[in-house]
Amino acid sequence: MPTYIVLLGPPGAGKGTQAKVLAQKFGLPHISSGDIFRENLKNGTELGKLAQTFMSKGELVPDDVTIAMIRERFERPDCENGAILDGFPRTPTQADALENALADFGGRVNLVPYITAPEEVLIERLAGRWTCRAIGHIFHEKFNPPQQPGRCDLDGSELYQRDDDKAETVKHRIQVYLDQTSPLIEYYRSRGTLVEINGFQPIEQVSGQLMTALKR
Ligand code: AMP
Repeated sequence: MPTYIVLLGPPGAGKGTQAKVLAQKFGLPHISSGDIFRENLKNGTELGKLAQTFMSKGELVPDDVTIAMIRERFERPDCENGAILDGFPRTPTQADALENALADFGGRVNLVPYITAPEEVLIERLAGRWTCRAIGHIFHEKFNPPQQPGRCDLDGSELYQRDDDKAETVKHRIQVYLDQTSPLIEYYRSRGTLVEINGFQPIEQVSGQLMTALKR
């Protein structure tokens, strides 16, 4: 039976960081809808250009576009045993679409770790975040500075600040999360798959709590 884990939580909660840890531990692909949009933008595809008009403002890309993209991603052979989903679903419509898509593959969402942190922490994390151009490795100007300013420690590529990590857009993204994504907390709680994780702790402790939840 394939294993699907959905990481839920506001921007800056640490979903991407924890998704990478889980993906490595379980040998499952890490599917980040935001990364796929950014990859498309880098490659100049029509999807990337369309997504950018929403991303730059901190708005959600329309459901039909996002769902079609994720469905296509699921068809790749590496998803055979499941996946770690990060940033998808972000609306109840997307969650319904996910349920239907997984049913087609004989799977379901097994666990939804809901990672939380206080709003001021989210803002500080996002506004100080630097991302590497090559792979998307994450650094923070205060909490996890690179050894050489502006360069990724892992692959030497340039670090840049995401447009939507600029202070003015960050607050709007959090509001969009509260308005459009937070209904998923009840959605998954009512299905018995939600587990709350305190994201305001060191990365290793958050990972430890996640592993405990997964073992249960
Ligand atoms: P993230 O990398 O998850 O912070 O996503 C960055 C941006 O990509 C979001 O602010 C949205 O504009 C867009 N995006 C990512 N995932 C989704 C999704 N599931 N639905 C709609 N828009 C999304």
